[in-house]
Amino acid sequence: MLVAGNWKMNMDLTSARQLATAVVSEVGDPGPVQVAVCPPFINLDSTFSVLHGSPIRLGAQNMHDEVWGAFTGEISAPMLRAVGCHYVIVGHSERRRLFGESNEGVNRKIIQAQKHKLVPIVCVGETLEERDAGREVAVVSEQVRASLAGIHNADGSELVVAYEPVWAIGTGRTASPAQAQAMHAIIRRLLVEQFGSDTGADTHILYGGSVKPGSAAELFSKPDVDGGLIGGASLKADEFALIVEAAGEVA
Ligand code: PEP
Repeated sequence: MLVAGNWKMNMDLTSARQLATAVVSEVGDPGPVQVAVCPPFINLDSTFSVLHGSPIRLGAQNMHDEVWGAFTGEISAPMLRAVGCHYVIVGHSERRRLFGESNEGVNRKIIQAQKHKLVPIVCVGETLEERDAGREVAVVSEQVRASLAGIHNADGSELVVAYEPVWAIGTGRTASPAQAQAMHAIIRRLLVEQFGSDTGADTHILYGGSVKPGSAAELFSKPDVDGGLIGGASLKADEFALIVEAAGEVA
């Protein structure tokens, strides 16, 4: 089980430190659950100094697919490693939708992340229009296949996939546990096809989209839901800790 908080473009220096401190204390010992928070780039360094020595890992929300050079405003994988990142979110639907990220671009980022020993949390998910048109399986399958083309994943620990239906992100509308499980099973099958049965089974598939303390336990109890990528609820340490606790109960 893995629970990762995506703070998005929230928190300044002071509030990020306060939130990280509260998360460390509220989460305590998460037992078998792996836990991470993903603050904005500017707060990675200071957040790492709070997390250091705790079981909570650091992740970034994005990265560039080149290592360095003339890419004004961008941040690369080795820079993220240098400030203590373990994870990097890649291809979040907000990046795909608002910043034009393609499956091919996501694929390049995953390759570069892995080269620098970062674990990419690769986001996939259909829009409401795509679901209403009955195309959700085709869309998500294509995202998984194209984003992960040629990627390695020796024992399931080099990669995380997050299924985040776009219509459930920040809307308060969560996919039902059955809807989540149905798509996770399809993603699992694709992972098994690409990486073999053991690695496919051991790769975390997270659900994301308006997960709250009240909905987490039932979602996490589904066989192919291995935790959550949490947006809004990760900004409140007590809610985030309850979600981690729910993951611990089913772990
Ligand atoms: C997200 O953006 O990854 C997310 C799941 O957000 P929320 O939990 O707020 O829907």
